[in-house]
Parts: sequence; C-alpha cells; structure tokens
Amino acid sequence: MSVTPPSAAPPGAGAPPHGPRRWLGLVVAVALVSGGVAYAVEQRQEDARSRPTATVTPPTIRPNQGTKPPSKTAAAIAARRVAIDTILLRRAKAVRTVDERLFLQDVDPANAKLRQAQKVLFANLVEIGFQEIGYSQAEERFDAAAAREHGPSTYLVRVLMRYQIPNVDLTPVTTELGYTYVNRGGRWIMADDDDLDKDLGPGAHQEAWDLGRIEVHRGPRVLVLVEKGDTQRGRTIVAEAAEGLTQVTAYWPRRWRGTVLIAALDETEVRDARFSDEDVESAASAGSTFSSLPGQDTADGTVAGAYIVINPKERDRVDEILLSHEITHVATADLGGYEPLWLAEGAAEYVSWRGIEAISGPGEVGKWEQEIIDDALPALPALPSDAGFYQNTADVYGVSWLAVRFLVSRLGLPAVEELYEDLARHGTDLASRDRILLTRTGFNEASLWVYLKEYEPQR
Ligand SMILES: [Zn+2]
Repeated sequence: MSVTPPSAAPPGAGAPPHGPRRWLGLVVAVALVSGGVAYAVEQRQEDARSRPTATVTPPTIRPNQGTKPPSKTAAAIAARRVAIDTILLRRAKAVRTVDERLFLQDVDPANAKLRQAQKVLFANLVEIGFQEIGYSQAEERFDAAAAREHGPSTYLVRVLMRYQIPNVDLTPVTTELGYTYVNRGGRWIMADDDDLDKDLGPGAHQEAWDLGRIEVHRGPRVLVLVEKGDTQRGRTIVAEAAEGLTQVTAYWPRRWRGTVLIAALDETEVRDARFSDEDVESAASAGSTFSSLPGQDTADGTVAGAYIVINPKERDRVDEILLSHEITHVATADLGGYEPLWLAEGAAEYVSWRGIEAISGPGEVGKWEQEIIDDALPALPALPSDAGFYQNTADVYGVSWLAVRFLVSRLGLPAVEELYEDLARHGTDLASRDRILLTRTGFNEASLWVYLKEYEPQR
C-alpha cells in the first residue's frame, strides 16, 4: 500500500530506489534534465567545431554551389527542421485518422525490428483513443554511439509528445521521447527510437503504450491497461478500482471528477515506477503526469495528475484497499504536489483504513491504531520527514496515518482536507509549510509531534 515516487536516478546509479514522491524526486529530475541539456549543447558545439558539416548537412546539399558555408549550414538546418516537423505532424495525423500506413511511412523500410515495434506502438495509441496528440522537436542531442551506428547524417532530437486521454488527463500533458533520423537519398527517415532514452528524464519512453502490445479496459471513471490477452485481470481491476473510487469519494471531501488510469503490466519499469529492485516492496505507485515537464518552463514543472502503476508481482492481489490508497493520491495530484509526505501518505492511508473499517467494523482499526501508538510512534524522533521517507524502515506509513487521524479528531475532516489543499498548492518550502500548518491547525510540525505522542483516541 505504498507509493513509488518518481525515481529519478537510473538503477545502479547509487541513488536509492525510492525518493520522496514529488519534491526530492522532482529536484533530481530537474538536475538530470538540465544536466542533459547542458551536456547536449556542449557536445553539439564540440561536434560543430570538429566536424562542421558531418551532422548538419544532408547529402542533398552539395558544396561549391556559390552559397557561403554559414548560410548553407543554416539553410540545411532549417530544411531539416521543416522535414522533421512534417514527419512529426504526419505521425500525429496517422494516429488521429487511424492510418497505419501513414504512421510507418517515415520509418526506415530496411529496419524490420523498428517497424514491428512502431506497429505495436501505433496499435496501442489507437486503442487508447487520445483526444489530442502531437509531437514537437525540442533540442538536438548528440550521442557518439548513435552517430557511429547511423552515419554522418544522424540527427538525434528530443521530442515532446503532448497528448490528452479523454477524462484521464484534465489538461494536455507532455512526455519525452528521443528519435533518431537519418537522411537517405535526400529523404529523412526515422532510424531509431531509443538512442536517447538513457539521457531523458525519469520514465521517458516507458509509458504503458511504449512497452509491448496492451489491452485497454474501461469502466466508469476507470481506464485499465493490461497485457494483450490478460482480459480477465483487466476486468477484475476495473471492478476493484470502481470500489476504490467509491471509497475515495466517500471518505475524502475533495470533489475530484477525473478518471483513474491504472497500468498492470508484466513490466518492472513503467513510467517512473521501478519495481525491479529486490528491496522494493511497493505494491503500486502513483506517478505524476506533467502539463509542463520539470525544466521545461519552471524547475519543478507543473503536475497535471497521476497514473497508477501496479507492481507486476502484486498484480494478482490488487484490491479496493490498495487502490483506494493509490486513488487518493491521484485525486489530489493536480493540486500541485507540495504537501509533506506524512500528509500525503497519511491521507491515503486514512481513506483506505476508513474502507476497512466500513467492512470489518471499528475493532480492527482501533487495534491497529493502538499498535502504532505503542510500537511505531516511540521508534521515531519526529514526524517523518520527506528526505528518506520511503527508505525509512520504521512504520512511517502508520505514524503518518495516526497524525492524520489525530488532526481529523481535533479539526474535523473538512478542515484537514483544506489544510491538505493549501499545503499541496503553496507549501513550496519549509517556511511556507510551517506557516500554513500553524495558521490552519495551531501546530507546527514540532508541536504536532508532541501532541501526537500524547494522543489517546476516543473509542
Ligand atoms: Zn501512497
């Protein structure tokens, strides 16, 4: 019942598999994205100095035609830009008009493997039924291996895919890709789709539709993506998600009318979720979508919502309890994501335990609450901080849940929801957080902790 945050560092990079769900995750993501851009620019300049015509001049431009070299190069770059823009427009149109031939028109005819992968991608994109889809060129990137593999005309470009899934994405959102184009006989074609993956932000080119043929299951306010042929699972998860949604609606006051996207694939890495590490025990993850990516317009980016990804090892155990926790994250994601993790996880646990209480009565919840007070609380020195939250071996989820139960008992649920909303929108730094918390509850985090330790639930 945990959440896997955007894990910005690649596996094996020395960073822990989990980081705080947004905050720290985003900071690292920004560092990676801007680092990548800086690297690319540096490399491009280096490349331009050492091989002035190798990467920018398509074979159609012949030297000594009376055009001065600088303008010739600029003209070649401009021509290439227009050619790739046209290809990307065609690509989006192909999805909108369900035209596979058009989608494959600019894919290397000699690369059977790439064409097959693009066919699968096309089928997935069509099946999802985007309300809006478009691709645009960001900046050129350089990769020595890609240049060696694809030859002197290699053009590696970061591409922004902007799309909107009906009801799921309340605004258009953006995801990153890296495409490799080469000029063959005067014509630009796509030569590869993954040369840049390692230099992109977390989760890039790992959307659910990027990973193999999927099957889409729909219910009211639910969209479930499973492996092609995994039909029964798709139906089961739709039903469990409907129950989970009912609980979130019943136990969390914020009116959220969106549709939940849940990916339950046989993949350990989907979007920014990474379940491949053995010490990752998360059953599911709620990872952000962005209307503007971190580093695109602002350092943090703009969170638009969240998609749920299920750990492949836990796919048989997906139930309404797990999903009500994750859906609480989704139903609060578009607020901004600046709330402290103890509040985010505490609220999600609060909702899912209210669901358990409705099924099994107050006894079990009361027993669990007492165990947290007796065992988990004394093991911590303070409210769990964002840093290291997901690495903490203490029961930070239980203590976060207890803190929310305590606040609800003192202030009432509507006031706690308003606190959540204010913090999620405006808690951009520790000073703002403390000010909002103090204004709305009379506590700062330190005094909240003191009172929490003396909390005796009324039963
Ligand atoms: Zn969670």
